[in-house]
Amino acid sequence: MPELPEVETLRRALLPLVINKTCTALKFYRKDIRFPIPKSTLRNRFANQTVSKIQRNGKYLLLQVAQGAMLLHLGMSGHVSRHTSMVPREKHTHAIFRFGSKTCLHFVDPRRFGCILWVPRNGKHPLLDKMGPDPFSSDANAKTLKGSAKNCRVPVKTFIMDARRIAGIGNIYACESLFRAGIHPQRKSGRITFAEWARLISCMRSTLQDSIRAGGTTLRDFFDPSGNAGYYATKLSVYGKEGEPCPKCKTQISRTVHAGRSTFFCKTCQPTRSRAVVKVKRRVF
Ligand SMILES: [Zn+2]
Repeated sequence: MPELPEVETLRRALLPLVINKTCTALKFYRKDIRFPIPKSTLRNRFANQTVSKIQRNGKYLLLQVAQGAMLLHLGMSGHVSRHTSMVPREKHTHAIFRFGSKTCLHFVDPRRFGCILWVPRNGKHPLLDKMGPDPFSSDANAKTLKGSAKNCRVPVKTFIMDARRIAGIGNIYACESLFRAGIHPQRKSGRITFAEWARLISCMRSTLQDSIRAGGTTLRDFFDPSGNAGYYATKLSVYGKEGEPCPKCKTQISRTVHAGRSTFFCKTCQPTRSRAVVKVKRRVF
């Protein structure tokens, strides 16, 4: 499943292909993917326009033109493949965007959870309006997250995977960031201290950044029409490592299921209580 680092890698790979280039043709092969594709709006407002920038917000990409932006999401199984001429489309190609005379981008999504939408110039769109801040934005900070988690009994892992709280943190990065921050995934989000939120945000950024850097080294191969290339193997500490030794303390990595998703953690490095609380208790008794 494409996660935030893959989407950021895609954004960087697209920059030299579409920035200051004009979309010369748009072809759609379905009425809808996850949502109906606003074909005529895109043909009227995106075609024959020059792309000025590509923004990423969580796992959404916005290809900006004068009148607004085309919004792309890769869903569970989407990818973009690049061709230098009008080649026959592979199976599950739902749209082709042609830029200039040489670049054809194929939007491929077998499970059809992705989307191709239009966002007007004011940036207002129901999907974006409900979203929390991108983890790299200055709005994602300890103060806002602690405020948003006030009295919240939802486990912190579920909380950070909720795009309304913070955008684009999938299962792998939730597990890895909590491990780096030394926070147990099942702790109630309302009980996470300010210092822990600060540490967790910093760990989310460093985990994502490491993965983006790893993707950067394979940027040239990102548009592999096989559909698999570009999704690089991130160096994982806990995700998928049940029973293996923790890289920090050698305790066996545990696995539980939260909200239907596998959660991996180290019960020694990620205690069920805040370290500050544990220290105080020890002093009392
Ligand atoms: Zn450990």
